[in-house]
Amino acid sequence: MDYILKEREKQVALAGVNAATVECNKASLAGSVSQRACVFCGSRVVLYPIADALHLIHGPIGCAAYTWDIRGSLSSGPELHRLSFSTDLQEKDVIFGGINKLNAALDELIDLHHPKAAFVYTTCIVGVIGDDVESACKQMAIKKGIPVIPVQAPGFQGSKKDGYKVACEALFQLVGTINKPTPKYSINILGDFNLAGELWILLEYYKRMGVHVNATITGDGRVEDICNAHNAALNVVQCSGSMNYLAQMMKKEYGIPSMRVSYFGIEDMSDALYDVASFFKSEEMMAKAKELVREEFARLIPKLRWYKERLEGKKAAIYVGGAFKAISLIKALRLIGVQTVIVGSQTGTSEDYELIKKLCEEGATIVDDSNPVELSHFVKEKQADIFIGGVKERPIAHKIGLGFCDHNHERKEALAGYEGMMNFAREIYATAMSPVWQFTK
Ligand code: SF4
Repeated sequence: MDYILKEREKQVALAGVNAATVECNKASLAGSVSQRACVFCGSRVVLYPIADALHLIHGPIGCAAYTWDIRGSLSSGPELHRLSFSTDLQEKDVIFGGINKLNAALDELIDLHHPKAAFVYTTCIVGVIGDDVESACKQMAIKKGIPVIPVQAPGFQGSKKDGYKVACEALFQLVGTINKPTPKYSINILGDFNLAGELWILLEYYKRMGVHVNATITGDGRVEDICNAHNAALNVVQCSGSMNYLAQMMKKEYGIPSMRVSYFGIEDMSDALYDVASFFKSEEMMAKAKELVREEFARLIPKLRWYKERLEGKKAAIYVGGAFKAISLIKALRLIGVQTVIVGSQTGTSEDYELIKKLCEEGATIVDDSNPVELSHFVKEKQADIFIGGVKERPIAHKIGLGFCDHNHERKEALAGYEGMMNFAREIYATAMSPVWQFTK
């Protein structure tokens, strides 16, 4: 394994009885070309789906272009989030400061679009020149009568995970600022970003169970709902890497408990619904959850069996942002006969990796904060048939001549819930079994 840098060796392990602990939660190694994105990008992906807010990037145009329309993040109403505004800082602004440009941009954009709130993202160069963005936001909030929130996210100050924290701090400034009557059985959904409409699938499930969804943070998000989020009885957190920090702050300040769930794969989806029903201690709600699961299983299992018969023996590689998603994917793949031979994540914790080790078969490669060289070698060594990842893993798979399933930014099909499991099985089958791969081997 001479392609693994010496300093990274302990971030790779093989599953098995005597598997070593995977080192994680470390800064990326210089020169390793990590798949992780910058702090600004982390904050942007979390806040981006808030559809009635203005998102203004204070920095050079490249930062805005890099994150423009970065995810599907569908909205059932306004679509202001899909516009990417930037102060387009130039050399002159770097020398004399960019605050005047920021003030002018905010002034014009707020009058033009009438957003419910504005997020102002600071980028690397603003971190270097030291524009007082906080004070500019405060003054603009008074002038326009809406929250104008600085998102202090210079890219160089950490990794994508630090950007999640910055985004949670920005969201927390909104929480608790509006009080609306909220039903007893109410939850906030944290950490689903409605990339391809999965949030709407979940809303339907919760509706069938009699659960009111108070705020969706941030998929199909609305500023007012987030302001009233403190009135929910429970925070249900998916993608805990990005949203756990907000849940913790809401627990401390407002006493709202939280639970961690995953909506990927039918086992985890069902557990999520049962866990919510158990939290509310409502027999009626639990009965409805059981009925829902029974109906969906009856519809789904025969179809999944068809895929399993055909996919049995295929091998998959997974490399995703949060390890919690990887855990659900391993289970979902097993259900359709696919063995996971490589699992990695950008931001997994030791607990996540311990669980992954138990779930994987002997010899599977487990890796934290990997890079394209390592991933290419792992995939070839393990002879994976399909690679499941995000936008940065796609070229790796295509260069090797391997089927790719997008489970992140660019996907157009919902992969959460029971419908999502069906879409996932269909996509894995279509990709892994495509006759095109015979020409690339
Ligand atoms: S690393 Fe800095 S310059 Fe690059 S996108 Fe992130 S904030 Fe912008």
